[in-house]
Amino acid sequence: MEEEKAGVGAGAAAGELGSRLCLAGAGRFSQLFSLLSAESLGDTRWERRKLTALACGDVEGKFDVLFNRVRAIQKKSGNFDLLLCVGNFFGSTPDAEWEEYKTGIKKVPIQTYVLGANNQETVEYFQDADGCELAENITYLGRKGVFTGSSGLQIVYLSGTESLNEPVPGYSFSPKDVSSLRTMLCSTSQFKGVDILLTSPWPKYVGNFGNSSGEVDSKKCGSALISSLATGLKPRYHFAALEKTYYERLPYRNHIVLQENAQHATRFIALANVGNPEKKKYLYAFSIVPMKLMDAAELVKQPPDVTENPYRKSGKEASVGKQIPAPEEEAACQFFFDLNEKQGRKRSSTGRDSKSSPLPKQPRKPPQPPGPCWFCLASPEVEKHLVVNIGTHCYLALAKGGLSDDHVLILPIGHYQSVVELSAEVVEEVEKYKATLRRFFKSRGKRCVLFERNYKSHHLQLQVIPVPLSCCTTDDIKDAFITQAQEQQIELLEIPEHSDIKQIAQPGAAYFYVELDTGEKLFHRIKKNFPLQFGREVLASEAILNIPDKSDWRQCQISKEEEETLARCFRKDFEPFDFTLDD
Ligand SMILES: [Zn+2]
Repeated sequence: MEEEKAGVGAGAAAGELGSRLCLAGAGRFSQLFSLLSAESLGDTRWERRKLTALACGDVEGKFDVLFNRVRAIQKKSGNFDLLLCVGNFFGSTPDAEWEEYKTGIKKVPIQTYVLGANNQETVEYFQDADGCELAENITYLGRKGVFTGSSGLQIVYLSGTESLNEPVPGYSFSPKDVSSLRTMLCSTSQFKGVDILLTSPWPKYVGNFGNSSGEVDSKKCGSALISSLATGLKPRYHFAALEKTYYERLPYRNHIVLQENAQHATRFIALANVGNPEKKKYLYAFSIVPMKLMDAAELVKQPPDVTENPYRKSGKEASVGKQIPAPEEEAACQFFFDLNEKQGRKRSSTGRDSKSSPLPKQPRKPPQPPGPCWFCLASPEVEKHLVVNIGTHCYLALAKGGLSDDHVLILPIGHYQSVVELSAEVVEEVEKYKATLRRFFKSRGKRCVLFERNYKSHHLQLQVIPVPLSCCTTDDIKDAFITQAQEQQIELLEIPEHSDIKQIAQPGAAYFYVELDTGEKLFHRIKKNFPLQFGREVLASEAILNIPDKSDWRQCQISKEEEETLARCFRKDFEPFDFTLDD
């Protein structure tokens, strides 16, 4: 049994994952208490939130060895809430033992969660990439995602080994998988870190600044993408395997001393393979209180043996490949995998803790601005002569000083600050306008680039800039944004095609995003300063429209008469596409 560690450990601990554990929990408190260090006993609020867990390295088909060992431990120390398996769960040869668990002849003594395949031989065991039950009490988590228990414990998982070559085999993850996980989790302003990260490979460089990792050279083995993931996610515990050895690194810090506020430390633990002849440790016991239930001061308490962050120096190397685009996006449906929802049919569930809140119902009357607004359609300040189309909830207007004569804006009729705040019916019409404009511009040999800057603006303006097909490809546009962002130290994250900005940005959070004609989006969470003309500058640059002197809209102003003429032309051209005339 591992003792609780100071700092992270003292407050770190548990709750119940899923209702089955929840129901079993009450009767077990006396047993759980024996696991806890004396100082943490003082706070009974935390006791009830504490989960006890086991983490295990490569099982490689030795199910009997593992589960017999778990039974023995539970007999001695009391039941644990869950078992997390990283590395190879199945062996490479067909296994009679597995059949007995699969068919229920043999029982699994603990709720067990496993990662997917790391090689071609075992891919067939994991039928559903979104995760599924493999046997009673054994759940495959899925290729990647977040598992949130009813206690609030957050476990991020990434199955497989690193692959930089497309197409990625079924047992691998790509740079895109890593960047989408990072984006989904790290882009909200409240993001502090996650409780547990599960990966099969070690993160590259994990041994830097730490205690020796023995015969494993972490500069040579492991995955740089996982280092980058761990850097972004700041897990309190990170488990990995595949190297057939046990290594518990000294905890490392996630902040820069004297430059940043203290944050919680990370414990990296690599586990050996089950039943190895050298008797290296393959099971690790720990207890944890979900960080969202913890007191901030307790959470960031630094363990005495804390070291520098191993990935900081290698940050550049670790993020190589981050920008390599995958040819096809996968649907973002797997994020925020919720235990309650997923298992609700099988178990009674409290049903709380749903990540995706439904779109708020808005009253029919659109929101009103607090003062004068240039973009609320009903307000006297609006330049009506620029308006080219009016729908039920949105309207189109020519951009003042646009990059081209057909540069338009999609605007809500009512006063909404950003896309994040729109009600469902308004979102629906925004999407309709987007799709219609894409078709309209396509018919004129152009592709649409959209961007929104929710920073220093009060009324949503979705900029739609047509770029002639002959100018450049979508990838050129994407590259131009990524390159010019890098030059200005703006972190642009790729987010999957069907994902919703609402999932990433909280209402009120400042952000910028650009949407390409493929539906791909590049997202930047604005922390402090952001160049107001960034989107425009990139589009005006040599790489895209090549009209650098038009990057400032004030340079592009024309007379009201000219504006009226352009608007009249646009209305006429757009008429065949105008869906507002349909009924
Ligand atoms: Zn307004």
